[in-house]
Amino acid sequence: MIKIANLVKRFGSATVLDGIDLEIDQGEIIVVIGPSGTGKSTLLRCLNFLERPDAGRLVIGDLDVDVTRVSRAEILAARRRTAFVFQNYALFANKTALENIAEGLIVVNRWPKAKAHARAGEILQRIGLADKADAYPASLSGGQQQRVGIGRAMAAQAEVILFDEPTSSLDPEWVEEVLALMKQLARERQTMLVVTHEMGFARDVADRVVFMEGGRIVEQGPPSQLFNAPRDPRTRDFLRKIL
Ligand code: ATP
Ligand code: MG
Repeated sequence: MIKIANLVKRFGSATVLDGIDLEIDQGEIIVVIGPSGTGKSTLLRCLNFLERPDAGRLVIGDLDVDVTRVSRAEILAARRRTAFVFQNYALFANKTALENIAEGLIVVNRWPKAKAHARAGEILQRIGLADKADAYPASLSGGQQQRVGIGRAMAAQAEVILFDEPTSSLDPEWVEEVLALMKQLARERQTMLVVTHEMGFARDVADRVVFMEGGRIVEQGPPSQLFNAPRDPRTRDFLRKIL
């Protein structure tokens, strides 16, 4: 279970997250939507302390921290309980697909190399890239690279996988295979917090859609309610522009 309570993040004089409250049950799939510059990426980045929040409480599984007095050990604990899938994949160019997936297990979880490589091999099977174990990122398609990015997150066995626009950098032809892998994870009830513009994915897969604007959650609900009968005029306005 994830609980975000009154999370605040400022950059200089700008309040980018203005008191975010959000609870995510185990196995829940949450999609976050909202205009550009609204704090969606910052919210995800605060959950694993890629950005340091200014106030609030974070509960991630059995970790419970006041972000204003978080220790180095608690930051590492938060990172072990969250896995991040980036828009630009962020793979190591000098490591193979297998090594990219194994790397976190070796460095973060301190697994012996052989065990990490065995797990990475299993993950490659699950993401349909067993034949690409020894391929370097440059020789993979965008879709394959992002599937490796997701495989790396799967390997971490985190409490939650955070996706920040995982298909936005992809050529259109590769989007479906990445969404299909995300749907597979959703069916397995992997807890996911997904920032995306893929409204079809949100409709089909999300348990709950969260609409953010100006650093706040304006409205949230099941996709059928949020897309078909949004209550807040700001949500209606946003949906009219993008749908
Ligand atoms: P997009 O849909 O374009 O990805 P977003 O909702 O993810 O937007 P964020 O990237 O979270 O928005 O940015 C929220 C606000 O915080 C923006 O005004 C952005 O300029 C500002 N911001 C983000 N990162 C930093 C930073 N490191 N330093 C200063 N300002 C930042
Ligand atoms: Mg963003």
